[in-house]
Amino acid sequence: MIDIIEYPATDARCYLDLLPPDFAGQLADAVAHFRDCSVIHINSTAYGGGVAEIMHSLVPLSNALGIGTRRVVITPGDSRFFDVTKRIHNMLQGAPGKLSEEELSIYFGCLDEIADEINELDLAADVWFLHDPQLLPLGRLLSRCAAATRLWVVHIDLTQPNPWLLDRLLPLTGAYDTVICSLNDYEPRRLPNGVGLYVAPPAIDPLASKNSEMGPARAAAIVSSLGIDAARPLVTQVSRFDTWKDPWGVIDAYRLARNFHPRLQLALLGLSQADDDPEGEKVLNSVRDYAQSDPDIHLFFSPVGLPATNDEIVNALQTHSQVVMQKSTREGFGLTVSEAMWKGKAVIGGNVGGIRLQIVDGESGYLVDSAEEAGSRMAALLSDPDLRSTVGENARERVRQHFLLPRLLNDYLQAAREARARAMPMLSAADN
Ligand code: UDP
Repeated sequence: MIDIIEYPATDARCYLDLLPPDFAGQLADAVAHFRDCSVIHINSTAYGGGVAEIMHSLVPLSNALGIGTRRVVITPGDSRFFDVTKRIHNMLQGAPGKLSEEELSIYFGCLDEIADEINELDLAADVWFLHDPQLLPLGRLLSRCAAATRLWVVHIDLTQPNPWLLDRLLPLTGAYDTVICSLNDYEPRRLPNGVGLYVAPPAIDPLASKNSEMGPARAAAIVSSLGIDAARPLVTQVSRFDTWKDPWGVIDAYRLARNFHPRLQLALLGLSQADDDPEGEKVLNSVRDYAQSDPDIHLFFSPVGLPATNDEIVNALQTHSQVVMQKSTREGFGLTVSEAMWKGKAVIGGNVGGIRLQIVDGESGYLVDSAEEAGSRMAALLSDPDLRSTVGENARERVRQHFLLPRLLNDYLQAAREARARAMPMLSAADN
């Protein structure tokens, strides 16, 4: 099944006020090239995880700027599809092993069916963005795509991909004009001839309810209503319950810091388990055991019965916490890092992937290689409000300069523009 998601219009001017001054001109120039074009973004989950988060804001912004943009979400007919694609995700981030013949046939078979459905609807666009490995084979299956500009966007950490899988997936990128990845370090080797590469790190929506300014009293009230003592120190990690997010390492770090700050509390918020991530429950159970019924470790995994919306809770916890963690061991980008930095927080992040791009170590946050290091950074920050506020100010400015949504839209448009120029050099010369 596929869903076409409609969004109400948004006001693009509010974004431009937040950006570095010379940026508005660049964006207007990029938008002008696509004024009469239509764009489709396809991804595999309507809700949960970073890609859904980005789509939810980027599509309305693109429409607001006058580019007709639609979002399509796939729902595969076979429930095993997401088990396979989660394995693919894990293997591309470095997990060992191979896919069985059965897994491969589920992957390709489901996407054949989805392609038939999209082709029957006769969906058309000038530019197609297909997101993540869940959709990679679709590029060559969509009949209306053939004459359009096609970009495959890979959001995951590709620093140490499983070579067996990479050999099987990379030829599929030949159906695209361009591959977009989040960091230079992820550049996949051996892209087929003629396929371009563009680096576009993700970005956060500063106007989304989870990122707009929340007063300290409101944040404290929401935190209290969650059963956390708002008068005692708090450290939070906001993440799906996922092995790569290392929730166990966060608990280790908290336990170390608690030797110096005995009143410390920890919140692990994983409400938005994505539809395409079937492993959450297993990880959650393991984390629950690991927390050993410590009353000061607060695990949130279901929105049912909570006193506020997901976005309000994310905002309140990030706003109220003294320190925010993102102790991932692999991280394609990690929107949660920029979300907390934008709120002026000192973030301690794993020294991996996209977290390294966001945090300048010692200046706008801290990068750590172990739970011990995370624990000692946490303890030091908890003892030093001035340090927290200096690092937090630098963090907000870093996000303002590099990681706000209009920059990402601009990058996507530039990537599409480059792809068109390669495919139709005559046309694009006339354009300029
Ligand atoms: N998120 C949320 N509620 C939660 C946990 C996560 O809204 O309980 C959001 C988080 O704020 C961020 C996104 O989910 O916007 C996660 O994106 P990120 O890039 O950090 O990680 P991913 O899940 O894509 O690996």
